[in-house]
Amino acid sequence: MNVMDLIGNTPLVELKKTSSELDGVSIWAKAEFRNLSGSVKDRAAKAMLMEGIDRGLLRPGKTIIDSSSGNTGIAYAVLGAVLGYPVRIYLPANASRERKTILACCGAALVETSPLESSDGAYLAAKAEAEAHPDKYFWPNQYNNDANWKAHYNSTGVEIWEQTAGKVTHFITGMGTSGTFTGTARRLKEYNPKIQVVAVQPDSPFHGIEGTKHIASTIRPGFYDETLPDRFAEINTEAAYARTIRLAREEGLFVGISSGANVAAALDLGRSLPSGSLIVTVLCDSGFRYLSDELWGVDHG
Ligand code: PMP
Repeated sequence: MNVMDLIGNTPLVELKKTSSELDGVSIWAKAEFRNLSGSVKDRAAKAMLMEGIDRGLLRPGKTIIDSSSGNTGIAYAVLGAVLGYPVRIYLPANASRERKTILACCGAALVETSPLESSDGAYLAAKAEAEAHPDKYFWPNQYNNDANWKAHYNSTGVEIWEQTAGKVTHFITGMGTSGTFTGTARRLKEYNPKIQVVAVQPDSPFHGIEGTKHIASTIRPGFYDETLPDRFAEINTEAAYARTIRLAREEGLFVGISSGANVAAALDLGRSLPSGSLIVTVLCDSGFRYLSDELWGVDHG
């Protein structure tokens, strides 16, 4: 087996205890922390890099450059190692210590940008560098690259349909680039237009749900299509934190904050649905990426 085959085909797990809070509605989740570099972003990173190689844009001598809240950067770092390319990542300085450490350990060069400018500051800085030196870099530009959402159209959406034997009634997930939501939702709608797709966002521009974007107050991802969601949902940081902790302590799923946000939003949705509904959401990454985060209430001193 090729190392890159460790991307995709993640298990779909039933959140039994969480679902028991609902009336005949079940919540299932894609265990994306099982991917090669440990997050959902492996799918998009692999697709963007392979397309770059196919189109002759990523070739020996080039460095992979992009902005990332961490997970895409880690995916590039790991895939860069596999494929033999150096990697340079721009990320807001307030990204978790674990993410920065993993990036450095995998050999990526890090450029930290202002936390006040969040993902937009990192995006603009990477764009400026990539555009200033086009022959030096391959810039996948994850916010505007169709290979990002198509990775989910070609894998995540297909897997969910097959793993639920076509029984999925709702798909709900948060958005960073919106690649996971866009590609999965488009594929599921093609299988069955009655499947309802719900896009989740933090309820405020100042939030702690790392990896997700408050779209109204930030630069809009190029392929984000606001006509695609049947519904929008908002989640606040405290609810995401609380659910992240409960997932660890009740379901044995030690996952990241955006996963907690997704499950909290899935529960909110489930309260309004008829018995028999089957909601699928995404566990984007593992809790190991947030060990130093205040949410755990652990004193590291
Ligand atoms: N959760 C986490 C932890 C992430 O890092 C990301 C990607 N930034 C997402 C969710 C959202 O994924 P996407 O870019 O596909 O919208």
